[in-house]
Amino acid sequence: MGSVWAARAQRVSKRVRSFWRRRLNPAAPWCNVCGYCGEFRDPTNGANLRESLICGLCGSRSRDRMLIYSLGKALEKEPPLRKWPANRSLRVLETTGHGGHPFFLAKKFDYYNPRYDPDEIAAGADPRKFADVQALPYGNEFFDCALSSDVFEHVRLDQNGFSEIYRVLKPGGVFVLQAPYIHTMEKTHILVEPRGDEDAYLEPPQYHAGHTLVYRIYGRDLLARLEGHGFSTEHSQTEIAQHRISLQDVFVARKPGSRVS
Ligand SMILES: [Zn+2]
Repeated sequence: MGSVWAARAQRVSKRVRSFWRRRLNPAAPWCNVCGYCGEFRDPTNGANLRESLICGLCGSRSRDRMLIYSLGKALEKEPPLRKWPANRSLRVLETTGHGGHPFFLAKKFDYYNPRYDPDEIAAGADPRKFADVQALPYGNEFFDCALSSDVFEHVRLDQNGFSEIYRVLKPGGVFVLQAPYIHTMEKTHILVEPRGDEDAYLEPPQYHAGHTLVYRIYGRDLLARLEGHGFSTEHSQTEIAQHRISLQDVFVARKPGSRVS
């Protein structure tokens, strides 16, 4: 019990210091997820800023903050996410969200954050908790927004995944996509090619998080592929110093229709 109170006291003290830092130095960076103005840790020592610059309060990484920044722009909401007005009728799907933002998204919206686990899915587990993006267990036009951060490079049949996201989005729905992407590459680089039921390894296998196989690294043809599924898509490559978001790529794809908000 003591440690719960100690953690709470520490959070309060961080918030107080954050408040004064922003007051005294309006140019100091602050987290667009939780609002914290303070330290952003980089355990990679500059080697991978996208995966680091970890917020000292909510634990969001630079990549997570770009995801939420892009969602906020699409929904015309001012940062931080913590202060967005709650709207429980707005339904949001995220393909396995981690870090600081899922806690806040779950408070604001009707938020589904399923994990991919073939055994659980086969056993008919709760579709809020488990889902396969290649065959989503939701009706047509069910979600207002979909978020996917560094998942699609692992999706065996990614075209099925994109078409499923399109199907479950409402008209005007928005899909924010992040994935390993190299803008100077015209075509997606295939590491593992699905051929029928088999996987052909074109290169020595690469894994993320120790065990998740990487099928591909996207190139510029990703834009045309998203458009081919019916999305109108914008790609951007930006750095947002104010929120300690390092230079990175993000895709914002919309299903035709009037905007959701
Ligand atoms: Zn934060």
